[in-house]
Amino acid sequence: MSQTQYVNTILENLKFANPGQDIFIQAVTEVLYSLEPLIAREPKYKKHAILERVTIPERAFHFRITHIDDEGNPRVHNGWRIQFNSAIGPYKGGIRFHPSVNVGVLKFLGFEQIFKNSLTSVAMGGAKGGADFDPKGKSDNEIMRFCQSFMSELFRHIAHTTDVPAGDIGVGAREIGYMFGQYKKLTNRFDGVITGKGLGWGGSLARTEATGYGLVYFTQNMLKKAGNSLEGKKCSISGSGNVAIYTIEKLYEFGALPITASDSSGYIYDEQGIDVKILKELKEVKRARISEYVKLKPSAKFVSINEYAPGRNGVWDVPCDGAFPCATQNEVHLADIKVLYANGCRFLAEGANMPSTLDTINFMLSQKDFCFAPAKAANAGGVATSGLEMMQNAAMSKWSFEEVDARLHGIMNHIFETSYETSKEFGDTGNLVLGSNIAGFRKVADAMIDQGYV
Ligand code: GLU
Repeated sequence: MSQTQYVNTILENLKFANPGQDIFIQAVTEVLYSLEPLIAREPKYKKHAILERVTIPERAFHFRITHIDDEGNPRVHNGWRIQFNSAIGPYKGGIRFHPSVNVGVLKFLGFEQIFKNSLTSVAMGGAKGGADFDPKGKSDNEIMRFCQSFMSELFRHIAHTTDVPAGDIGVGAREIGYMFGQYKKLTNRFDGVITGKGLGWGGSLARTEATGYGLVYFTQNMLKKAGNSLEGKKCSISGSGNVAIYTIEKLYEFGALPITASDSSGYIYDEQGIDVKILKELKEVKRARISEYVKLKPSAKFVSINEYAPGRNGVWDVPCDGAFPCATQNEVHLADIKVLYANGCRFLAEGANMPSTLDTINFMLSQKDFCFAPAKAANAGGVATSGLEMMQNAAMSKWSFEEVDARLHGIMNHIFETSYETSKEFGDTGNLVLGSNIAGFRKVADAMIDQGYV
């Protein structure tokens, strides 16, 4: 049986076992095909059934969350925690609160997290959790009660050496605080069970900034290798959460010009460059819609999602040199990347998890003059810094912003080098999808072999 037939069989079995979870299948498809050259070279992975094992979560919990809204009515939601793989460290990965969350979404995220965490070189396994709850428009008290209900179940499955959650879409400093408070109340333990904590109670400096900063460090490495740099580049960014905001902030430091940001209502285009101060005020303090930006900066333009062409993400219409999707999964379609490319875009770096569809990735890889930084490698700075938070908690110490940022920078350089060198090793120099997937996978797979058939 050829490697492709072997992978096809695994994917067929996976589809049967996970009906309706196309998004999970998408994430696995991308990884498994890129592993073919490794599987061909190293028969041990097939012999020990690593692909069959690594695609099934070690453990998954589905639970009910009931909380009381401000009118006194019961509200019911689904919660999950997918503990995907613990071969190289305790389960680690964020919690997402968004109406689009279901078990398939969390399995795709948990699966990606295994290899991303492996790339960071910090000892962390892969996990993800969340709920089909929409924090948008909820009062602080509703958010608090929801977080408490969520943790009332989750606490029995986590511990600082077992599983360490963090934030993701819809879960920021406020939600982490409420969940940690409830964890402490239920367990009578104050430990590093969750990352992204407040700076006064165990959080790490630079954790909020880490994913965006890390993304820019990675991109600069990638462009440098191609004899290029971020200097003077017009960059389009989607999203306006912490990943987008701190990508924009860091891009300025490298001499680039970030010109767009977006949320679920539309995008803004500011040809003078996005004003980070305004963006932070709107999104971090006021939790306002992005359209408010143009009231404070009238020269900028707001385009509503209702004006997007069918099947398109309008933010990618803006001509740019480089694109940074930092919003959510499958936000760059084939039609989008074709428009970006035709308008002169020559690199794309993924801040969100799996923002590019499979055909978009194939398009990018087939253009010889295009550089593509895949999420697993490029956005690993967030979880890497969660790892640094765990180290500080374990040592009961606190590092300066400069120290954490310097370590983050070092980790991103290392992830780039490892991914690049691995792509070279397997005869497809510069294909960072192949390089990062193989590098991330190899370490996990070898640990699984060492630890026997469990
Ligand atoms: N949610 C982030 C990610 O996708 C961070 C997870 C963490 O810090 O554990 O990697």
